[in-house]
Amino acid sequence: MRAGMVADDGADHGNGCFDEEWPTELDNELIDEKERTPFAVDAFRYGSIPGCSAYFLTHFHFDHYGGLTKGWSHGPIYCTRLTARLLTLCLSVNSSYIHPLDLNTEYIIEGVKVTLLEALHCPGAALIHFILPTGLCYLHTGDFRASKCMQSYYLLLNHKVNVLYLDTTYCNPKYKFPSKEDVLSYVVRVTKGFLKRQPKTLVVVGTYSIGKECVYLAISKALGKSVCSSFGISPTGWTYSESVGKQLDQIRPISKGNVTIYGVPYSEHSSFTELKEFVKFLKPDKIIPTVNVGNPATRDKMHSYFQEWLKG
Ligand SMILES: [Zn+2]
Repeated sequence: MRAGMVADDGADHGNGCFDEEWPTELDNELIDEKERTPFAVDAFRYGSIPGCSAYFLTHFHFDHYGGLTKGWSHGPIYCTRLTARLLTLCLSVNSSYIHPLDLNTEYIIEGVKVTLLEALHCPGAALIHFILPTGLCYLHTGDFRASKCMQSYYLLLNHKVNVLYLDTTYCNPKYKFPSKEDVLSYVVRVTKGFLKRQPKTLVVVGTYSIGKECVYLAISKALGKSVCSSFGISPTGWTYSESVGKQLDQIRPISKGNVTIYGVPYSEHSSFTELKEFVKFLKPDKIIPTVNVGNPATRDKMHSYFQEWLKG
């Protein structure tokens, strides 16, 4: 990969701070000249990158597509079909630059085998799997929620990943939140209970951009209708608290007047445990974290987790 581009999703999801300095030097140290490709992933904020002839977009969240506008003319953009549609519909990117790719299909781009895999993040999000002519294999997770089902992805089972660019949003042992399924059934249960007591309730689910649809889809499916006091669900991994842990029933809603809000730990990113299981399964030679990398101490801590996981 080219230095400084691939690992950069431009976001420290944790504190909203982006350290402009780290990627170039860090990647230069990690990636040999012969291991580089003329590719950039989620690096649109840099505009035209010298030597880069193919730009990849993992998914349609601003911290990844930032810099991409309707005036884009720096080179072809590769992404999933759904993300491609969003680029046209929402950003009016010139379609002659957009190259939609199907999931689970191998494409040869600049001599490199490229396959997009389901990332279980937001609609259209993909992991990007690259095999260089030398056989060297990279996996860029973009943003993802690691799941056991990924351990049956053919490519991941049958091709050793040498370098893993990993979404480390929750790479801290304090983030041991429950599975999406458990949170969804909890939300449905709590909503049904609330509606029983106060049938005329407007249920509001907080979302940012695309991604948390599953929460309100689960509610409307369970109730059989789209559903006035107000009752709100705020789904994010950041509402996770250690005291609640995996005990969803200990979540205490916040009420003011006739508005009640439940913050639930519904995350589109991997929990610490899921990250660990994913890394232990892949056993890559090298891991490059892509989130929360601005702080050297945090970065060192993450690398110590990686070393521990890869030992076993
Ligand atoms: Zn995202």
